[in-house]
Amino acid sequence: MSELHTALTEAGVRAVSDSDVIAAHSVDHARLVDPGRAAALVRARSTADVQAVLRVASELRVPVVPQGARTGLAGSATAVDAAILLDVSGMNEILSIDPVDRIAVCQPGVINADISRAAAEHGLRYAPDPGSWEISTIGGNIATAAGGMCCVKYGVTAEYVLGLEVVLASGEVMRCGRRTAKGVAGYDLARLFCGSEGTLGVITEATVKLSPVPAGRLTLAAVFDSTAAAGRAVTAIMAAGAQPSLLELIDDVHLKALEELRPMGLPTDAAALLLAAADGDPEAELVEIERLCAEAGAAEVFRATDETEADALMESRRSALHAMERLGTVLVDDVAVPRSRLAESLDRIRATAERHGVLIGVIAHAGDGNLHPNIVVDAGDEDSLAAGRAAFDEILQMALSMGGTVTGEHGVGMLKREWLEREVDPVNLAVQRRIKESLDPLGIMNPGKVLAG
Ligand SMILES: Cc1cc2nc3c(=O)[nH]c(=O)nc-3n(C[C@H](O)[C@H](O)[C@H](O)COP(=O)(O)OP(=O)(O)OC[C@H]3O[C@@H](n4cnc5c(N)ncnc54)[C@H](O)[C@@H]3O)c2cc1C
Repeated sequence: MSELHTALTEAGVRAVSDSDVIAAHSVDHARLVDPGRAAALVRARSTADVQAVLRVASELRVPVVPQGARTGLAGSATAVDAAILLDVSGMNEILSIDPVDRIAVCQPGVINADISRAAAEHGLRYAPDPGSWEISTIGGNIATAAGGMCCVKYGVTAEYVLGLEVVLASGEVMRCGRRTAKGVAGYDLARLFCGSEGTLGVITEATVKLSPVPAGRLTLAAVFDSTAAAGRAVTAIMAAGAQPSLLELIDDVHLKALEELRPMGLPTDAAALLLAAADGDPEAELVEIERLCAEAGAAEVFRATDETEADALMESRRSALHAMERLGTVLVDDVAVPRSRLAESLDRIRATAERHGVLIGVIAHAGDGNLHPNIVVDAGDEDSLAAGRAAFDEILQMALSMGGTVTGEHGVGMLKREWLEREVDPVNLAVQRRIKESLDPLGIMNPGKVLAG
């Protein structure tokens, strides 16, 4: 037995050493990221397990890669050489739901959608709803600061995190944040862990905010002959002060791929479909959104006749990546631009696809200006790979040139470390490094992610 496995066993932790099992756990959902060769996999069942792993890792100077459900799209849960893969997905209990304080206290491996299911009996839900809500964990959502479909109205994960229990690299347990509606005692360390991608510590418990389930919802789909017109509709809707609870764009490439995956009568000859929903004063809000879509040049606007049809439209949006993955290896890009530049971004991404001779389909959390250009490549063909990577970079550069960001919600991971350095100023970068050093002086927490070495 290796020194590492002996130390873990002595610390009371069972580690998997089977190389096939470890290899299967060594990647997340990001494609074309080369994983390192991890030394062990530990499936933690308690905070004490996590502490034991981090104490051993500190002692032996071994890297630790925290993992939730490994649905991440930036390579941040991908193995690094000699690491312990620390899988916390088995810590999946909802510890309590308090309908008065409107909070849920969860272990990190709880699946996002399970929180809303559990809160539903109190008329409450956990609002942030990434496309992966049925498969990703709350710990992973917090560590990536995940976004989602209803964020255009209800905000992103970080706005719902009240308090955390975190095991630091040293093995110490830190509780931060609060369970009250308000509280400003000291620096907001809970917020610091939102988007930290497992590089600052391991989240072992989260107290998240719940909110009332909206009373009703109406959904529409607007068909556009040009992506620019769809982009103009989004700008008009946001400029008018409307509050859609969802504003998602699906382009022609995705519409065709989705129909091939599961025929449901999507308009495959359209340039783009805009899905919008309203849940405040739904009838009045939807009438206004319909009007703005028509004014922006929608060829057709139709309403979902009932909840079943609305859910089917949403399901097709959630299946978009899966549909594209049938066409080849997909490099998922993730940029956010000012909403006012959405139409221009869509045109420029199309030009990028033509210039590099690659297939790029775009889905977007359009109301947030958050675009996912999905670039399809043939992983076995060097030219195709090079073209895809060049297009990927060109889109990141486009976002920066527009005053946007290189990642709206998926994170930096291994994919965009150099791009983080281009986005933030040197002083900002130096502060980020100092924060990392103060919480993880030995550099064992998910090294090589977020900050370049
Ligand atoms: C089909 C599909 C749709 C998606 N849609 C969206 C979307 O709409 N919006 C969006 O934002 N993302 C989306 N994603 C990306 C992904 O689901 C999110 O990034 C999600 O938050 C990752 O959660 P996870 O449990 O899979 O975490 P993992 O992938 O396992 O880990 C992600 C990161 O979090 C860290 N981590 C995980 N758990 C912990 C913990 N307990 N403590 C500390 N660090 C931890 C890991 O080290 C890693 O850095 C989608 C992915 C897929 C496959």
